[in-house]
Amino acid sequence: MNYCSTRDKAVIKDSAQAILQGISADGGLFVPTEIPKISPSELQELCGKSYVERARVVLGKFLTDFTPDEIKDCVEQAYSLERFDDAAIAPIARISPDSYLLELWHGPTCAFKDMALQLLPRLMVTSANKTGEKREIVILVATSGDTGKAALEGFCDVPGTRMMVFYPEEGVSPMQKRQMCTQDGDNVWVCGIRGNFDDAQSGVKTIFADKATADEFSAKGKMLSSANSINWGRLVPQVVYYISAYCDMVASGEITMGQEINVTVPTGNFGNILAAYYAREMGLPIGKLICASNRNNVLTDFLGTGVYDRNRQFYATSSPSMDILISSNLERLLWQLSKDDALVKELMAKLSTNGRYEVSGELFDKIKELFDSGYCDDDSASATISRVFDDCSYLADTHTAVAIKVAEDYVARTGDKRKMLIVSTASPYKFSHSVLGAIAPKMAAEILDEFEQAKAMEGHTSVAMPSPLKELEGKAVRFTQVCDKDKMLSAVQQAL
Ligand SMILES: *Cc1c(COP(=O)(O)O)cnc(C)c1O
Repeated sequence: MNYCSTRDKAVIKDSAQAILQGISADGGLFVPTEIPKISPSELQELCGKSYVERARVVLGKFLTDFTPDEIKDCVEQAYSLERFDDAAIAPIARISPDSYLLELWHGPTCAFKDMALQLLPRLMVTSANKTGEKREIVILVATSGDTGKAALEGFCDVPGTRMMVFYPEEGVSPMQKRQMCTQDGDNVWVCGIRGNFDDAQSGVKTIFADKATADEFSAKGKMLSSANSINWGRLVPQVVYYISAYCDMVASGEITMGQEINVTVPTGNFGNILAAYYAREMGLPIGKLICASNRNNVLTDFLGTGVYDRNRQFYATSSPSMDILISSNLERLLWQLSKDDALVKELMAKLSTNGRYEVSGELFDKIKELFDSGYCDDDSASATISRVFDDCSYLADTHTAVAIKVAEDYVARTGDKRKMLIVSTASPYKFSHSVLGAIAPKMAAEILDEFEQAKAMEGHTSVAMPSPLKELEGKAVRFTQVCDKDKMLSAVQQAL
């Protein structure tokens, strides 16, 4: 199976090369030149298997240049019970007769990024061995909060790699900041920037696109790569949990094999929902893909009108991991639905110069057929957290709440009766201030310290706080550096 650049079909790589490189030299993203299929009988067989076994099968279809043993080693190390606190790895909770939450936050950093970032370092090191790459792999990450910590945890002390994280200084929750700035490991570095996530992401992309920088690094025996969801190695592990969730629903009798379900995904960079799209294209019986946004609703507008316009107010919301106006992975969808690299290149050039592009005709028709969308502001997310907790004692985080509300709105608007799988992307304890504010506003107003808030929430709800978050309380802060958004490259050079 080969991969090509979304901006130039003639650039062809195998998966090891695509994963090592992260992004194509032309600025495009790597996409599979064809999407492998999963048959109903294969799906049926996976129903009786563990998450690790399901991952082996699904990854094997995409990473055809890896041996089955290589995949097995990577997957077994990534999804072990030393790292995940639930034997199902990605368990499902039912919150109403027809809606289910797929909990993707049982890994070491308590957000869904672990699902991919526990695996990516292993895929990268295996790829380096396969391609004979001897240089140290320097991974640059821009984070809206969760990716940074998950990448630090995934790459911490992995030989042959170095991990450098940029986060918007004012754009992450106190718990997220604490998680990153207390990170252990000799090969990690963390820096705040004066700017928002889009600034951090653009800064990292600019460093990647600069040939002189690449040459300078190479001369020093280093190569740059990415652990953001622009890397194919981040996306492919995410396809697995949609297939796994479907198998779990069949195995528990909630649906019958072949029955279509809908999926709602709280979306920022469009990586998670794109993985659901790939699962659907493989043959998983998914009906609609529903894209849920917060007040930064650039995707709601795009999926509704065909106009992508990032020229708008940026809001810092209570779901910070979705505070994004440039959703990088949309580029992959545009390629998948058009197979037209010249078009994708033109649209991305427009996005970069005017901050705006428009799709119409057949391409937009295809998008509308596959996707629905909606958004939810902070007040409404807060009301949803409170209502879901009252109704079924389920404590949802702010991102998950956005998705629950958008899913409910979708059902009310369309009358679509298919069962709904709603993706739950973070532990409520990563956003204790907002979540406690939703269920016990008086308590939240009186308690200022984040750990005291979390403890109060634990007492109030009897939902246990995950141990990796509990353990942060006693940890020393190691990283305090902050730089201007146009000084990221020199910060990297200095740190190295
Ligand atoms: C990253 C993240 C998202 C957004 O996912 P994308 O793949 O960027 O669309 C949603 N919720 C949480 C908690 C996240 O960490």
